[in-house]
Amino acid sequence: MSEIHAAVTAPVIRRAVVTGAAGFIGSHLAHALLQTGAAVIGVDRRDPASDESTAVNLTVLHGVQGYIHVTADLLDCAIDPLLVDADVIFHLAGIPGVRPSWGPQFSEYVHSNILATQRVMDAATRMRVPRLVVASSSSVYGVTSGGPSVESDRLRPVSPYAVTKLAEEQLCLAHAARAACPTSVIALRYFTVYGPRQRPDMFIHRTLHAALTGGPLRLFGDGYQRRDFTFVDDAIAATIAAATTPPDTSIINVGGGANASLIDVINVAQSLTGREIDVRADTARSGDVLSTRADTRLAEATLGWRATADLHSGMRAQMQALTQSPYSAAA
Ligand code: NAD
Repeated sequence: MSEIHAAVTAPVIRRAVVTGAAGFIGSHLAHALLQTGAAVIGVDRRDPASDESTAVNLTVLHGVQGYIHVTADLLDCAIDPLLVDADVIFHLAGIPGVRPSWGPQFSEYVHSNILATQRVMDAATRMRVPRLVVASSSSVYGVTSGGPSVESDRLRPVSPYAVTKLAEEQLCLAHAARAACPTSVIALRYFTVYGPRQRPDMFIHRTLHAALTGGPLRLFGDGYQRRDFTFVDDAIAATIAAATTPPDTSIINVGGGANASLIDVINVAQSLTGREIDVRADTARSGDVLSTRADTRLAEATLGWRATADLHSGMRAQMQALTQSPYSAAA
C-alpha cells in the first residue's frame, strides 16, 4: 500500500466491473472499490500465471472477499455474463504508451482501444448497465499553447496512441448519445498517472529504477518537457466519484496534482535515494508533447475532486513499493 490516501468518497456502488484490472491503474481501482464494500469483477487478458508483473499487480486482490478475477480478451470473450447486475463498468483495459504506437504494434492499439471498446459498449447497452466510466488520456490534446487544457479545447492528437484514445472516448459517447442507450458515459482524461506499480515503461518508474540500481536512464529530449503528474490514489478517487456523478458532463480532466519537468523528476529521485543518476541523453521522440497541464475546474465542480499529492511524497511512496517488490528488478 502507498502511504498517501486521497479521500475516497463512499459510493453507492454495489457491483462494479473493472476492465484492465491486472494493470497499473485497474488493480488500484479494483482494490479501492473492494474497500468501499462493492463486489468487483476484474477482467484482463494478461495471465498472472505466465506474467510476473501481472501477478504482482494482482497480489492486493488475491483472496479478497467480493473479488472475482477473469482472464479473458475483451476482443473475443463473452462480455454479457460479466455485466449481470452491474451498476458500473470502469473500462480501463487498453494498450497505453505513445512510442510503440508508431510501429507495427499499432494494430494492437486498434484492437484493444477501439474494437474491444465497441464490444464493451454494445454489451453494456444490451445488459442495461447504467454507467460506464472510460479511461481516456491527456494525449488527446496533443500540442498545446502551454496553458492548462480545458475539456472543450480543440484537439490535435500527435501520436497514433492518442488518436486511438480519442476514438475510444468518442465511440463510447456516440453509443451513449443514442436515444435507446441506457448507459451514460463519463470519459476521464487522465494526466500521467504515477505511484506504486506504475508501468515499467513510464518515466518515473524508469527514473526511480535507475536511481535504485545504478543503471542508466535514457532521457528522450532535453528534459524540460513538463507533465501534470497525477498520483494514483488521486486518480482513483476521481474515477470512483465519476461512477455516480450526474450524466450531463461527459468528459472530465483528471490531473493537475504535480506539474513538473522530467529534470524535476530526476532531481526528486536523486534526493530520495541520495544517488546520482547516470542520464544518457537521446533524441526527442515523435508524439511526445512538450507540456501537458490540466484545467481541473470541471473535475472540482462535478466530482468535488482535486488532486492532493505532491510529487515528492508520491514518488517516495512509489520508491518504497519498488524496493519491496521483486518486479523492481525487471524494469
Ligand atoms: P496497463 O497496461 O498497466 O493496464 C491496462 C490493462 O489492460 C493491461 O493489464 C492489459 O492486459 C489490459 N488489456 C489490454 N487490452 C485488453 C483486452 N483486449 N482485453 C482485456 N484486457 C486488456 O495501463 P495503465 O497505465 O494502468 O492504463 C490504464 C488505462 O488508462 C489505459 O486505457 C490507458 O490508456 C489509460 N491511461 C493511462 C495513463 C497513465 O498515466 N497510466 C494516462 C492516460 C490514460
